[in-house]
Amino acid sequence: MHLLPTQDEVVQILRDTGALRDGHFEYPSGLHSNEYLQVPLAMRYYQHARTLSVGLSRRLRAHAEIRAMIPQLSIVAPATGGLPVAYGVCEALRARQVYWAERADGRGMRFRQYMMPTPGENVVLVDDILRSGSNLTEMRTLLESNGAEVVGLAVVIYQPTPETRSFGSLPLYYLAKLDARYYSDAVSCELCKKGLPLEKVWI
Ligand SMILES: [Zn+2]
Repeated sequence: MHLLPTQDEVVQILRDTGALRDGHFEYPSGLHSNEYLQVPLAMRYYQHARTLSVGLSRRLRAHAEIRAMIPQLSIVAPATGGLPVAYGVCEALRARQVYWAERADGRGMRFRQYMMPTPGENVVLVDDILRSGSNLTEMRTLLESNGAEVVGLAVVIYQPTPETRSFGSLPLYYLAKLDARYYSDAVSCELCKKGLPLEKVWI
């Protein structure tokens, strides 16, 4: 395995660990798809987590502006799924700090008590996957409303759907891009037409 794993090597890790599954899935939004990905199933194996986060750190390091910020850089995750990636990236880059937000029953995303970005702080947002982008969008808003400057977005897997949010000109780094087939509902779903059993997924 290279320091920067190829798309095929990343996909192989996901398949070997059960993180990437073929079938017929329904997302909470109602989308149907032929593929489902749950990256934590790969990240539970420390060596794989290390391979993926070191690879992602090298993508970030290749960006001259971000490289220059590393000693002051914060690596921030929008949820616990991004934590192993955030710590791995921070360690490999020797960046300054890692923190994350959480959701408290019904209220939006927030930081732990006394955990706040400082004004002008440079932040790379990190997560295991970019799919809808809703968590990352909320995280970005929370950081920017507290004065931080989000300078990039880094995810292990980019799996865009027809509903993925735009991040404008924010640089996006990823190790592998997966193109699943998506259907907006059961009526338009070819897998439903074939009568394939449907699995509902939570996230
Ligand atoms: Zn279907």
